[in-house]
Parts: sequence; structure tokens; C-alpha cells
Amino acid sequence: MYESGLLDEVVRFHGHMCPGLALGIRAAEVARNEVGVNSPENPVVAIVETDLCPADAIQYLMGCTFGRGNLVHLDHGKNAFTFVRLRDNHVIRVVARPDAFGPPDPEFSTLFEKVRSGQASAEERATFEELQRRRAQAILTASLDRLFRVEPAEAQVPRRPRTVRWVVCASCGEATLESHTEERDGRRCCRRCLGKLG
Ligand SMILES: [Zn+2]
Ligand SMILES: [Zn+2]
Repeated sequence: MYESGLLDEVVRFHGHMCPGLALGIRAAEVARNEVGVNSPENPVVAIVETDLCPADAIQYLMGCTFGRGNLVHLDHGKNAFTFVRLRDNHVIRVVARPDAFGPPDPEFSTLFEKVRSGQASAEERATFEELQRRRAQAILTASLDRLFRVEPAEAQVPRRPRTVRWVVCASCGEATLESHTEERDGRRCCRRCLGKLG
């Protein structure tokens, strides 16, 4: 487990404690045990299959960030996290079990929808927060085996383009990585102008 100061930092980084963050905290715990934290001596790449709350915990506790190029998002909508230790290409995929968040709870689901749509009363909101707090606490204290399946994996770490060459978009005049432009009718344009942003 983590020293409590570190957990406080993660909560500050994410903005609140919630079950999702708690799950990410525990997934990072598996990763820290198995491949270690990213550092210059121990480069690690994290591939997250969700961009929700758990991703913030992975980022903060593993030292993997978009800007450093060692945090990759695959938009699979899963609480699954792959960690690649580059030194020896040791790769693990940590997958949350379907019941990692606890058994289905109709009261919680109803409240969740109400809070999300802004229909909850102050009292309901307080109940929701208390349930969230309890769920997060349960995740923080569960055994790792109860929360996750860990499987050996082979990861293709998506490589970023080696050459960082800038061109000026013929349409908007903004400097853009050449790899992110396309030629159309003899003019080299950015994805934004080509309307190709996904
Ligand atoms: Zn959250
Ligand atoms: Zn443009």
C-alpha cells in the first residue's frame, strides 16, 4: 500500500476521492509491484483503456503522462491497464473484475442518475456521496486479487512519429505537425480544417 501522503496528493490531483480513482490507485499498486514506477532508470509505458477517473491515478502514481509520451489511451471503454517495462519488455495487463465496484446496487444506480442529471436533492446528494465514499473505501481495502485479473501480455507500444517537422496549414495558417496534415487539391491542410477531427 501507499504512504498516506501520496494518496492525499492523488486525490488533490484528481479533485475528489471516488470509486474510479480508488480502482486506479489499486491498479497502480499492482503495476508498482510488478514493473515498478516509471523513472529514467526504469522506463515504463502505461496503456489505459479508459479515460475516466482511474486514468488519473495511473498517471500520477506511475509517473506516466501524455506529454512524456509514456501514457497511451486506447478508447476501449474498459477498466484495463497495460504496463510495459521497456528495459526487459515485461508486460502485464491488469483488468478489473466485472464486480470490482461491488455488487449491483439499485439504490446507488438511481441516485447516480439523479445526481448526474442534476435532479438530486441536497439530502440525496449527501447520501450519494456517502455511498461513493464507502465504495471507494471498500476498493481501497479489498485484496488485489479480488479486484483484478492480471495477465501476461504483449504490447505494441504505439510509437510517436520520430521526426517532428512542422508545416503551416494552407487553410488556417497554423503550424501543424506534418504527420497530421494531408494534401488536398494541391494544398497541405491540417485535420482541423479538413474536418477530420474524431
Ligand atoms: Zn473521480
Ligand atoms: Zn488548418
